[in-house]
Parts: sequence; structure tokens; C-alpha cells
Amino acid sequence: MFNNDIHGRLFIGGQWRDSCSGSRADVIDPSTGRVVGTIADADIADVDTAVAAARAAFESGEWAGLSGRERARVLLHIAGLVRENADEIVRLESLDVGKPVALCRAVDIATTAEQYEYYAALAQTIDGATRKVPLNAFAYTRREPLGVVAAITPFNFPLILSSAKIAPALAAGNVVVHKPAEDTPLSALFMASLFERAGVPAGVVNVVTGSGSVVGEALLKHPGVDKIAFTGSTSIGRHVASVAGEMLKPVTMELGGNAAHIVFDDADVEKAIGAIIKGFVFNTGQFCMGGPRLLVARPLYDTIVGILAAAVAGVPVGDPRDPETVVGPMAADRHVKKVEEYVELARQEGGRVVCGGERLDRNGGYYYKPTVIAGLTNDSRVVQEEIFGPVLTVQLFDTEDEAIEMANSTSYGLASGLHTTNLARAHRVADKLQAGIVWINDWAMLDPAIPFGGVKDSGFGREYGPEALASYTKVKSVVVALD
Ligand code: NAP
Repeated sequence: MFNNDIHGRLFIGGQWRDSCSGSRADVIDPSTGRVVGTIADADIADVDTAVAAARAAFESGEWAGLSGRERARVLLHIAGLVRENADEIVRLESLDVGKPVALCRAVDIATTAEQYEYYAALAQTIDGATRKVPLNAFAYTRREPLGVVAAITPFNFPLILSSAKIAPALAAGNVVVHKPAEDTPLSALFMASLFERAGVPAGVVNVVTGSGSVVGEALLKHPGVDKIAFTGSTSIGRHVASVAGEMLKPVTMELGGNAAHIVFDDADVEKAIGAIIKGFVFNTGQFCMGGPRLLVARPLYDTIVGILAAAVAGVPVGDPRDPETVVGPMAADRHVKKVEEYVELARQEGGRVVCGGERLDRNGGYYYKPTVIAGLTNDSRVVQEEIFGPVLTVQLFDTEDEAIEMANSTSYGLASGLHTTNLARAHRVADKLQAGIVWINDWAMLDPAIPFGGVKDSGFGREYGPEALASYTKVKSVVVALD
């Protein structure tokens, strides 16, 4: 099932290697539950080797010493290779993550290529500033790369979330050790082969596959790592941040979400319905910025619940290889079990399952039907916690203040959104929502130029935009005496 570019081995110092222990881990196709291959399962010794290779590559200056324009050429080459190899990458992501091929091509491939293109442009803008000071001195600042970046990524958007770290890190002249999620490592290995082909020098990007508790933990605690770029759950994120705090390492924390999607009584209902469905079924609900909490103004509540019941039941769920499929399997069986538990809890808490509410039995795959649940109170765990599956809860509100209060009532603050035709209300409410991004009259409008990240338990730091590039640099001030 793997092609010649997926060696199923670690990519360290420009070479494909077995893990020191020789241990291997299964790769499972979530659409069937069957093992489709194995990959190297690294341990602490492999992490040591990868960090040493990265350090050597950084110190050599082969990458950090290039001009921004020279690095930009390589980043553009990577973007081109992503587009050229789209068919193969889509096949791998579909096999590994269960991503519907149409979604993967339109979103994951396009976004990944655009990230490298965007940071190729920004690589050429990195510079310092001169500072006019009342000293007899000439003062200026330089922006320098940090060094070795540990990029730790989750299972749900393997390509996009790794590129969101690797592209700006490389643009700024850093080197990277990437640990993809154990469940979904294939695209990271394929990308390693593209980095090689694009002319990224050996050791500048290293990919170490293995578990979070061994490889992730070793990377966090490695004294040779200069920055940790983490995307994952809030619970693991707390641990990562505590280790980073202890070791005084800069860290970016992209954590969980549980966004509210508000529909005011003056909304364009037809537009809102499309955004609501996209917001919770996109990527089979395994989307940190999904909108699983729908808040509807009382006058529209019955209408919207009624439309959703019919429309959601008609969303094509099935084989991710079928171009018509919108919702594929979840990435692992444990994710389906977690969704089952939450839906059961919703029933116990008095929730009414409007549609879905059960597994889809298909080929042994990890499918769950898109589900809409009405009638839960705001303090329900199903409303307050991150389910991370294709489940939407629907609640009603009477006033603008009540909607804002409910939207802000969870511990998360990654994304939020609202539908209204009242421009003043749109800005007024956006101002009060506690979230890193607010979408108005649509959902999931994302671009490498638009910073994203969270507040509260959704983390800190921003990916995308010049903000991300800056986070992969450090400022040095140089002051030259003039006498
Ligand atoms: P996770 O369980 O927290 O894992 C994330 C990464 O951390 C994986 O590579 C994991 O490795 C690794 N890890 C686990 N334990 C570790 C440790 N002790 N030290 C270092 N690394 C460790 O998250 P997930 O289930 O893969 O992803 C879903 C979560 O990510 C959701 O909460 C979602 O909201 C969040 N997410 C956030 C964003 C964002 O941008 N804010 C984007 C996507 C997803 P293994 O998988 O190999 O164990």
C-alpha cells in the first residue's frame, strides 16, 4: 500500500533509518480497521540522534546561513512538489486518516502548498530595524532563527498542521524535528521525501515516528531543542507547557476547541444552514475549529432544527475514496467510542437526538453518523466539553447578551462565529466573543495570512501570518559606540 517514497522508516540527517530498537508500529486504514503496513516506532535514542542531526545542520549554516530569498526558492519548490504529487498525498491521507479524497484535495493539499508559498514570500521580508537613541551610538536589531524546533502534531490534519509549523520555521532559518501523531504518520514521511527532492539540506527536517509518551516526551525534555511547537489536546498541552516552563523553552500551544456558532433572528437562514453543517461535519467533526455548539435565536429555533434534521441525514457518509463522500470514517476506533459515550450521556441528560446518534456499520470502518442533539442545558458536559466528532448540540437564546454569555461559557476559546445581517451587531458581538478567530456569516474561512490560535484553554501563540514567522525568530539588539 505504501509507495517507494514511504520507507516506513525514520528520516534523520537526510537518511532513512530503522529505529534503534528495531520496533515497528501498525498503520491502520480507518475505513476498514485493517492493518495496511508498519512504520518505525522510535524511542529516546532515536530522538537523541535526530536532535543531534538537526543541531549539526543548524550549526553548519547550510540553511540558516542562506539569504531569505534563497530559502524562499526551496520553499516554493516544496509547494510545487506538493501540487505535483497531490494524487499520491491524497491517497495516503485517505488511507491513513480516512479523509474523503475531495476534501483532502480541496483543503489539505491546497492549504499545504499555499503555506509554503506564503512563507516563501515572508522569508524575504525578515529584517531588523534601526533605532534612533539619545546615545552616541548606532543601534539596530536583527531577527535570528531560534535553532532546533520540535514540531509535535495531532492526528486530524497531519499535512496542514505540520506545514503550519515547518514552513515558517524553515522560512526563518530554523531546523526541525517533527513528531507526527502515531495514528497518522504517513504524510509526514512522504513530505520528508519531498523536502529531500526540493533541496532542503540533510538534517534540516527530520521526521521521528513513534508514540507521544516516548518520542514526544523525549523531544520536550531534550536540552538540544530550542522551541516546542505543539498542536494537540488541552490535557497533553498542559503537560507540554509545564515541561516547557520548567526548561524555559519558548512554546506555541494550539489546543482544543468547542466553538459556539450563533444564529441571530435577522440571519440569512439558507446561508447559515450551509455554514452550520460544514462547521460540524467538516473532517468528520475532528476539527479543532469546528462549530459543535449551535445557539439559535428563539424565533428561528424550530425552523432551523427542522431543516437540520432533514439536511444532516442527507449528508453523504461513506468510503473516503469515493469522490462523492463528504463524511468519512473517524481516524481511530477510540474516537468513535468517545463519541458514543457523549451521545449516550446526552440521552441521559435529557437531550433529544434529532438525527444520527449511532455508529454506521460499514466494512469494519470507524464510522459515526452525523448527529444533531437538541434540548440540552448549557451546563451539560456534552455542551461544555470537546467531543471532537460529528456531533452538533442546538440550544436557544432570547437576547444578544444571553447568546454572548453562552458562547463564552466554556473553558475553550479557539473559534467562534455568528450569522446576522446587521453590520453593527456583527462587530459588536465579535468584539465580545472570547476566541482567537470570529467568523461572520460563514465558517472555517482560513488562510495562511490569517493568524489563528486560541485564548483560555485553547492555548496561546499564533500560527499563520507574520505572527507565526516572528515566533520562530529571536531579536538581537546591536549597539555600536560611535566614538
Ligand atoms: P493529543 O492526544 O494531545 O496528541 C497531540 C500530539 O501530542 C500527538 O503527536 C501525540 O502523540 C503527542 N503527545 C502525546 N503525549 C505526549 C507527551 N507526553 N509529550 C509530548 N507529546 C505527546 O491530540 P490528538 O488527539 O492527536 O488531537 C486532537 C486534539 O488536538 C483536539 O483536542 C483538538 O482540538 C486539538 N487540535 C488543536 C488544533 C489547534 O490548532 N488549536 C488543531 C488540531 C487539533 P501520539 O498521538 O503519538 O500519542
